[in-house]
Amino acid sequence: MEEKVMSIVKCPKCGREVSDSAEACTNCGYGIKEHFEEIKCKQDEERHAILEKAKEEERLKRIKEKQKESEATIAKLQANIKEGKKIAIPLLIWSVFWTIILAVSILYDFNGLIIVFSAICGIIGWFIFCLNWASTNDLVKDVELAQKNSDEYESEKIRRAETAYKAAQINEARRKEEESLKHPKCPLCGSTNTQVISTLNRAVSIGAVGLASSKIGKQYECKKCRHKW
Ligand SMILES: [Zn+2]
Ligand SMILES: [Zn+2]
Repeated sequence: MEEKVMSIVKCPKCGREVSDSAEACTNCGYGIKEHFEEIKCKQDEERHAILEKAKEEERLKRIKEKQKESEATIAKLQANIKEGKKIAIPLLIWSVFWTIILAVSILYDFNGLIIVFSAICGIIGWFIFCLNWASTNDLVKDVELAQKNSDEYESEKIRRAETAYKAAQINEARRKEEESLKHPKCPLCGSTNTQVISTLNRAVSIGAVGLASSKIGKQYECKKCRHKW
């Protein structure tokens, strides 16, 4: 509970000492309470204005930081695009050169070794050229998105990372499931050092010891305690 602290103040009109919570001055009738409430109200307003200003400055600062960040991201992407474009032409020249060599060596029936060699060089060249082309195109799209809407680009990056993470998780779960199918827990000793009794293994065992084989009707074998189930 808020405690109301009363204090003695001078009446702003006549100068007589009065309580600051008195409705009016006992001497001149001046509205003391109203006067101090107004002052308090003004102080509150000023404090509020200062807070609002600080908030606005903080907001502008954040916007500026974000702009800087997105400019840096775009600059980095553009540098990568430039790099990609720079190697595109030599790759193209290389690929076209070896394709021509291949065509000429087939046409004029050159040594088979030259045909094979130029074919390999050409295929590698075109392959890298296409990879570079595709990744540069992706980067160009990223820059367009980042320039249009940096928030959208950031969330797109997060979406991609999430998709990759989910795919990795699904793979991991599948791997574990396969693992547990291949190596289930032994019901006797709890070890996972178990194996599936293969049909061939079972057939050999039955062939050797006949129907006394412990492997009849059993799917798994524990390598630790030799339990079968
Ligand atoms: Zn007064
Ligand atoms: Zn066991």
